Order: sequence, then structure tokens, then C-alpha cells
Amino acid sequence: MKLIRFDGGRIGAVTQEGAFDLTDALGVDPQAWPPVQMVQIVAHFADRVPAALRDPRAKRIDLASVRLEVPIVWPNKLIAFPANYRLHQLEMNSKNQADINGFFLKANSSLCGPNDTIVLPSLPGREIHHECELGIVIGRRGKNISRADALSYIFGYSCLIDMVVRGNEERVMRKSWDTFCPFGPWIVTADEVSDPANLQARLWVNDELRQDANTRDLILDIPGMIELASRVATLEPGDIIATGTPEGVGPVQPGDTVRIEIERIGGMSLKVEAAGR
Ligand code: MN
Repeated sequence: MKLIRFDGGRIGAVTQEGAFDLTDALGVDPQAWPPVQMVQIVAHFADRVPAALRDPRAKRIDLASVRLEVPIVWPNKLIAFPANYRLHQLEMNSKNQADINGFFLKANSSLCGPNDTIVLPSLPGREIHHECELGIVIGRRGKNISRADALSYIFGYSCLIDMVVRGNEERVMRKSWDTFCPFGPWIVTADEVSDPANLQARLWVNDELRQDANTRDLILDIPGMIELASRVATLEPGDIIATGTPEGVGPVQPGDTVRIEIERIGGMSLKVEAAGR
């Protein structure tokens, strides 16, 4: 199943039967603030979503005629692993490595959706790069999670682009500009991804294929990331983990279109524009 957020905070699901607006069946108020509705749905998925799909208030929709939004807009945290592919370490001449240096955080407010625009701040002479990553959504609370149990904490997967200003300022700041974390176009539930350690991920800028790699080449694998992150911080439903970029990162310019596609998950294209004055 895919979970979607669309048309101003509405929540729906895409199943083999089609696409459904479950907003009313789930009792979701799209206008509620803070916008944690999808986090609540992820936390109570088994109790709420199958029942909502059977509810007469579930409305069939045409997926092509709705505007998809970032599926999780207000997570408890957005964890990201740097330097997690050998060839990316080499291209960056990086001494960092995910299994040694661990993770960093990106501002939750950097999240944006499949129909949003990546807005580049005005930083003359600086490069702003794309990083093509598999995004993991945590399904239940966990602390000190073992490798053996790690996959059972995963709710689902999305495409994630970790945008970053290259340079020497604090990494958290360089990666936390608004719109610097495109995430979507939906959450694919974990049951539909039999082997997350064998997913081809690709990223294009305009028609140029820049990144083309497989999650089997992760240095710190997915169970290892969950084990390490949960040793430090209690993982909560709806938390997002950016798993690290493979080689092929590079700059984007206003007017570009960035497209990401991950096997079994889907894809999305975002326009890039310069910030207004
Ligand atoms: Mn990254």
C-alpha cells in the first residue's frame, strides 16, 4: 500500500483496488495544527487504515488529478547518515564514514513534497548539491533496537533528496534551508519492499543521469543505521532516516529539474528556482 498526503493535508491510500481519500473515514482534520496527522496514522496504522478502507466515507479518487504533498510534514526528527557509500567518500575526498562518525540531523522544516519547488538561497560562488537517497519511515517507538529486530521497526520507504550547500559552515545549517529535503511522492509500506538492501536509485538533473547506484553498496546497512540511531535517540513513529548518498552528487541551478526514482518505490520531479529577493 502507498499512503499519500494531498490537496491541503488530506490523507489517502493507494491499494490494488485503486486510490482512496480516507480523510473523513480516518477522522482527520486537514487544517489541524501542528500537522502531525500522518505521524498519527503511521503510529496507529493497523487499527485505523484497514477499517477506514472499509468505511463508506472512503472516497475513490483519481491519483492523476490530485496534488500530492510531502507525506510527512512534521516528524519528531529527521536523521541523516553522511558518507555511507565508498565511491561518494572518494569523490568528496571525505575522511568521514557513517559507521564511525554516525548521523546528523536536518531541520524538519526543510521537508518539501513532490510538487514543491527547490528554492536556492542566493549564495554567490557557492555550490548547492543534490544527494539521491532512500528515505526510511519508522513505524513504532524503539530504543536500543538490535540489528535482528531493526527491520520490524520500519513502516515504509520514500524517495528523499538531501540538498546541501557545500562549504565549511555547520552541516546542519548547510542542509536545513527550506525545501532542502524533498520527500515522497508517497510512503510505500514495508511489506511491498521485500529487500531494501537491493534497490536501484537514480537521479537526473534535466536529462542528465547523475546518480545510479544500489542500496546493496551502503557501508552502514539499514539495520546498522537503526541500531546506531536508536542507541542515541528514541525512535518515534514517523521519524525519517536519510540513508546517505551514492556517488555522482553535483550542483543544481535555477531552472533545472531534478528527478529521483527508486525501484519499487516510485519517483518525483522537482523544479529548481532562485529565492526571491
Ligand atoms: Mn546526504
